[in-house]
Amino acid sequence: MEIRSGILLSPPHLAGNELQFVKLALGQGRWASGGENLDVFEHRLDCFLGSGYSVGLSSGTAAIHLALIILGVKQDDEVLCQSFTFSASANPITYVGAKPVFIDSEPETWNMCPEALEKAIKDRTAKGKKPKAIIVVHLYGMPAKMEEITAIAAKYGIPLVEDAAEALGSTYKGQKCGTFGEMSVLSFNGNKIITTSGGGALVCRNLEQKNKAVFLSTQARDNAPHYQHSEIGYNYRMSNISAGIGRGQMEVLPQRVEARRKNHEFYTELFRNIEGVTVFTEPGADFYSNHWLSAVIIDPEIAGFTREDLRLKFLEDDIESRPLWKPMHLQPVFADAPYYGKKVAEELFENGLCLPSGSNLTDVERKRIKEALSALIK
Ligand SMILES: *Cc1c(COP(=O)(O)O)cnc(C)c1O
Repeated sequence: MEIRSGILLSPPHLAGNELQFVKLALGQGRWASGGENLDVFEHRLDCFLGSGYSVGLSSGTAAIHLALIILGVKQDDEVLCQSFTFSASANPITYVGAKPVFIDSEPETWNMCPEALEKAIKDRTAKGKKPKAIIVVHLYGMPAKMEEITAIAAKYGIPLVEDAAEALGSTYKGQKCGTFGEMSVLSFNGNKIITTSGGGALVCRNLEQKNKAVFLSTQARDNAPHYQHSEIGYNYRMSNISAGIGRGQMEVLPQRVEARRKNHEFYTELFRNIEGVTVFTEPGADFYSNHWLSAVIIDPEIAGFTREDLRLKFLEDDIESRPLWKPMHLQPVFADAPYYGKKVAEELFENGLCLPSGSNLTDVERKRIKEALSALIK
């Protein structure tokens, strides 16, 4: 009997030196907070991004939480957030007692619609609730329309939190994603383009912000020999062991971007002659996606099959695929949150599917994907 293992959506991919760096930390007795791996990992991130001051944290979610705290978002404030995203973009708004207001996407990048954003700012301000922050996301690695969005944020004087959790290695007009926000967020969760097993980073714009983030993420200890606290702190710092994995992973980041982009080329070719299926692609030369996940939109009227038909066919053949993010304004937990926009995100959710996109996807696996698709459409 042929033994076939499942093809996963986005599994971790060993670079090679991770274990060596983990052993180094164990040998140095630096198992927990701080140490050489964390310093080097943050330095490598800063070098890669070309600007900013990274703070390694326990997750991307923690990074968004700290960003909101440092930007001064408080109880009952409102924060504008892209609706079409993973819940981790929005949940931290509630951690600080603030209220999310969700914004629709535009169809080209699937990210925050600048028009809907400006409309929301004007309307909330007219209602006496000027938003305290904007959370924009680069979904699946695709850069959002940052020129328009940063201009609107500046015009109204509202700080921008850039959720670049899925977009390490992507660029917009030649500038790296993760360098646009007042504060930016990266994730190194197990499914991301590089991983620390679990982790994230807050990319700060100056040392003052960085020091504040380090302080808050290590229980907000005042400078005293005993444990003294004047502020509420958090246990959010990345461990030196995790950073060792990240240090190893950083050595191959450019190759990982290349491999994910090759997957996108493979799917572009695969669906080229299948009418009614559109592969998610950059809308122009300003946009360079790391193609963290490749995705398609299926028009069932034209294609003759739905995204569920394709998902279930893949599942039958042990190939993992997944519907696009369900927009936050449609989530039961955020049912009461205001929403600005139309049905762009909703329609993407209804007809979209994420495809196996690991940087370690093999030719044999590509063949299996191709065969499953052929079996469905014949
Ligand atoms: C993964 C992800 C996060 C959260 O990162 P964690 O490290 O898993 O907490 C936030 N936003 C988006 C868009 C993500 O994909």
